[in-house]
Amino acid sequence: MTALPLVFDAPKRGLPPRHLADLSVEERRTAVTELGEKPFRANQLSNHYFGRLTADASAMTDIPAAARARLGDALLPPLLSVVRHVSCDDNTTRKTLWRAHDGTLLESVLMRYPDRVTLCVSSQAGCGMACPFCATGQGGLERNLSTAEIVDQVRAAAAAMRDGDLGEPGRLSNIVFMGMGEPLASLRRVVAAVRRITDPAPAGFGISQRNVTVSTVGLAPAIRKLADERMQVRLAVSLHTPDDESRDTLVPVNNRWPVDEVLSAARYYADVTGRRVSIEYALIRDVNDQPWRADLLARRLRQHLGQLVHVNVIPLNPTPGSEWDASPKAVEREFVRRVNAGGVACTVRDTRGQEIAAACGQLAAEG
Ligand code: SAH
Repeated sequence: MTALPLVFDAPKRGLPPRHLADLSVEERRTAVTELGEKPFRANQLSNHYFGRLTADASAMTDIPAAARARLGDALLPPLLSVVRHVSCDDNTTRKTLWRAHDGTLLESVLMRYPDRVTLCVSSQAGCGMACPFCATGQGGLERNLSTAEIVDQVRAAAAAMRDGDLGEPGRLSNIVFMGMGEPLASLRRVVAAVRRITDPAPAGFGISQRNVTVSTVGLAPAIRKLADERMQVRLAVSLHTPDDESRDTLVPVNNRWPVDEVLSAARYYADVTGRRVSIEYALIRDVNDQPWRADLLARRLRQHLGQLVHVNVIPLNPTPGSEWDASPKAVEREFVRRVNAGGVACTVRDTRGQEIAAACGQLAAEG
């Protein structure tokens, strides 16, 4: 028997080629000039991509055909293709599985509410933070996404809303970095993506910075760097428990940056930006839902953040292979009551998409 040749060798995984959405307005002009075109062509490309939400160069008929082809090839390489959409909640929640140029898979989730439309974006394919209750963490990190790969998830969602893919046409209003990955582990790319998302058209999509949330496991130095960007973005910290002993297991990166360091970085963020910080708390039966933990949580948050904090309790969503479960409703109610009684605002977060594995902690991008 002869050995089979390895024709299906995995392609080399890496960041995609440079794309318009990777570049600032200034860099776009330089790139266009280097391609032998007039600088104003950069503005035309930006109008199409960020204003009209199209990434298809052939549709850009205000640009002469030869230039269109040259600019399209160089600055609008295809980044993400749809593998499939799955919907639930009467088609007001839709998860999309994307394939990147190198075969990497990732997911984003679009949610329509009466008063807003939120896209949950991925900043990495997979995640290296290894939180044991999160499906993404179980799979490990595949790679960072480029700025443009993050931005293109937003473009596609904004176009889907405009085109009525989720019912009546609407407008994408909110972005949460709560999909796959740890956004602050890829800070530079994520900050650039936030600028593209929030800069007014045609530099970006013009979504309000106040409507963008960056969620982190608590990479303390990166929280401070994000604060120093002086943006009005909301910070969410996935704390999940107030004591280092249990957090060392629930959020392994706590071994590097313990609760006190995370909360003082969060305080710095609140002071610099003037915005209240959100604390995410996935409530797990008999793991982190005890009354004494609710009291300790309130105490530590008050001590570090005063009134500049709000706790979102998320009932644990089930993940494959995990024995952990959400807390009973009575336990959840008592937990929330005690945190509020301790002087810290606390509510239960609406969770969506469980039945299509689109809820918090369930994104695994399985082809
Ligand atoms: N890495 C970032 C971004 C992911 S956000 C972060 O951890 O904040 C996803 C949110 O869902 C986080 O708050 C995360 O802790 C939470 N989460 C993860 N697994 C979950 C699960 N099984 N049930 C409920 N929430 C979960």
